[in-house]
Amino acid sequence: MASLDATTQARLLQVGDRIDRAATAAGRDPRAIALVAVSKTFGAERIEEALAAGQRRFGENYLQEALAKIRRLARTEDGRHVEWHFIGPIQSNKTRELAQNFDWIQSLDRLAIAQRLSAQRPPSTPPLNVLLQINISGEPTKHGLAPAQALELARQVLPLPGLRLRGLMAIPEAVTDPFKQRAAFARMRSLFDELQRALDQSGADLDTLSMGMSDDLEAAILEGSTMLRIGTAIFGARTP
Ligand SMILES: *Cc1c(COP(=O)(O)O)cnc(C)c1O
Repeated sequence: MASLDATTQARLLQVGDRIDRAATAAGRDPRAIALVAVSKTFGAERIEEALAAGQRRFGENYLQEALAKIRRLARTEDGRHVEWHFIGPIQSNKTRELAQNFDWIQSLDRLAIAQRLSAQRPPSTPPLNVLLQINISGEPTKHGLAPAQALELARQVLPLPGLRLRGLMAIPEAVTDPFKQRAAFARMRSLFDELQRALDQSGADLDTLSMGMSDDLEAAILEGSTMLRIGTAIFGARTP
């Protein structure tokens, strides 16, 4: 049996404490920071443990793996909606299933994908929340737009009726130095501010800056993150 402080519930409490402490240090309200539990590679039973502990938002990277869990866990026992975020690379032949099954797409980085998602979003559901993924550290192997391309894509996504543009997402280069972590998040924050200013007149309501994972959530909160994506610190190490 797992020791008590290694249960999903205990780990969620520990993550909640880290968020509270970092928010307090930054003079921010911790309730303004949403927590997405990244459940990739973990089975539905582990998600059920998190649901039982009150967690409602989950992030998945692989469509087929996610669909099995979404079908099984559409609602909690008390009938509440479970919120699903897609955070992995998007293949254009998978957009219909993404548009039909997720509440958020955090990894949008191409207009053609945005157009397909908008057209394929079922009219009976609210528009799909989307974030533009930014390659903030300029790594050649990473997905995402260059920061300089963000405004143009945002302007093209805004009028699409099936989508609701909410903001930006980034996975900075993994570094352990907290000052370097903060520098990348600070660049995201200024890009986000810039976009908000530029699109203010276009009826945009950008309210989400998704940044911060298990090893850098404190730095992300200090620089203004409004949404964390946390896997390892909640579910434990992933076996490849
Ligand atoms: C896996 C993943 C995470 C979670 O990372 P941890 O370090 O396990 O917290 C967050 N965001 C994205 C896009 C991921 O792929």
